[in-house]
Amino acid sequence: NGKAANVKLVLLGESAVGKSSLVLRFVNREYSENREPTIGAAFLTQKCHLNDRTIKFEIWDTAGQERFHSLAPMYYRCAQAAVVVYDITKSATLEKAKSWVKELQRQANQDIVIALVGNKSDLAEEDEAERQVQTEDAKAYADESDLLFFETSAKSAQNVDSVFAAIAEKIPLE
Ligand code: GDP
Ligand code: MG
Repeated sequence: NGKAANVKLVLLGESAVGKSSLVLRFVNREYSENREPTIGAAFLTQKCHLNDRTIKFEIWDTAGQERFHSLAPMYYRCAQAAVVVYDITKSATLEKAKSWVKELQRQANQDIVIALVGNKSDLAEEDEAERQVQTEDAKAYADESDLLFFETSAKSAQNVDSVFAAIAEKIPLE
């Protein structure tokens, strides 16, 4: 019917896992190594065309630092989708991601679509010894928790569009 559905999406995860880089890759098709850390949160929008539907993502890119944690509910409370990011080269960031998922499943919308995203896959492609989180382990956790799952690289662009397309696909039509 040609109408764009707006989808509020929040990014969560430890700082430096690549949340802002993923959003900038998706929205601006660019990547840069030396970005300033996000303060508070940044807001960006991007349209996604999918079969006969157009989805307009309204994206809140939050700061990962603990001192901003108390602000997070403001961003996820009315979100229809969440992307929870970890860094495949740092297993502690997966633990943090799991605690975000728990918080979302307790406090966010019942029907929120959550994607678990293991970022920086390019580092493991260069040197498999860099990898601390095995794909199968994260995938098994995502399956049992009913999450979409992708490994991405904001640097190479691998799978970045797929995350948002899969979310768009899973958002219920009103
Ligand atoms: P945020 O704090 O989660 O928003 O993380 P940033 O997007 O600010 O990224 C933190 C650091 O990781 C920066 O130096 C990025 O250049 C780097 N980075 C982000 N994504 C990737 C990626 O896919 N691959 C690699 N190798 N580095 C990345
Ligand atoms: Mg950031």
